Amino acid sequence: MNRGRIGSLSVQESIPEDCFFPLPNLPPENHTFTTFPIASGGFCKRCNRGHLIDSGSALPYGRFLLDQLEKNKRLDLDIADDQSDFRFTLAPLYGPSRGQMFGVLICRRQDGVSGMLKAFSGQFNGVWEAPGWVPPLLDVALFQRISDPVDQMIKKLGKEIEGLETDSPQRQELTNHRRELSRNLMREIHDLYAVTNFRGETEKLSQIYRGSGGMPTGTGDCCAPKLLNHAARHQLIPLGLTEFYLGRENRSSTRHHGRFYPACSEKCQPIMGFMLCGLDREHG
Ligand SMILES: [Zn+2]
Ligand SMILES: [Zn+2]
Repeated sequence: MNRGRIGSLSVQESIPEDCFFPLPNLPPENHTFTTFPIASGGFCKRCNRGHLIDSGSALPYGRFLLDQLEKNKRLDLDIADDQSDFRFTLAPLYGPSRGQMFGVLICRRQDGVSGMLKAFSGQFNGVWEAPGWVPPLLDVALFQRISDPVDQMIKKLGKEIEGLETDSPQRQELTNHRRELSRNLMREIHDLYAVTNFRGETEKLSQIYRGSGGMPTGTGDCCAPKLLNHAARHQLIPLGLTEFYLGRENRSSTRHHGRFYPACSEKCQPIMGFMLCGLDREHG
């Protein structure tokens, strides 16, 4: 793994061949799979206009990935059956942990070969990286180095708090301390997120976030930013993007198994203007 540096920021560079797969041969029924056209994007401050990417040719490949996941019931599709990692079973998505978003980006490599990248949203069963899937926007090793000791401290405080009288001043003090620790940790984690766009510019996510109010937790963890960031860092030109939901419907019933969705408006739209910048130029 190569690591580049932007200012004081460490940028993770995975080897593109890990995640870039030449387009598979689709069964005929996948070729005809359509849903309404889905475009995702956001406002770009620099260009003073919106940048969009649509589902393009990605839909049938998204459908293909969905079928593969349903059939194999595990995330590590590119690993032989007997080498499969037990943490990557999809079973929990149909139960208490509920479903998850998955995404496909069709893109063209510098040598003209078209292929697909795939992503899962957030962590899968507490794991950030899985073979064959694009990595997250943060440096996982650094994330763990920063968050593990604080998490332990927060857990320890939690136990101490439990043992104290409900209205004791000491309990209040420890509760405040715990809140402060987790708020600071959140800020530090946000600072680990960096995105590269199609002009080759890399910025901290917090710098390019265009939403009103603070950046929601989990911004940058969705499939679209992971996929676009990976493509931009490896000179892959995106041709189509699609995301679908797999598993038990979410609590608010806005996501249903097997349905396709545009990138979300609350976390992705405010960063996608920057992320897609430079792409029209690439298309020429
Ligand atoms: Zn999103
Ligand atoms: Zn722009």
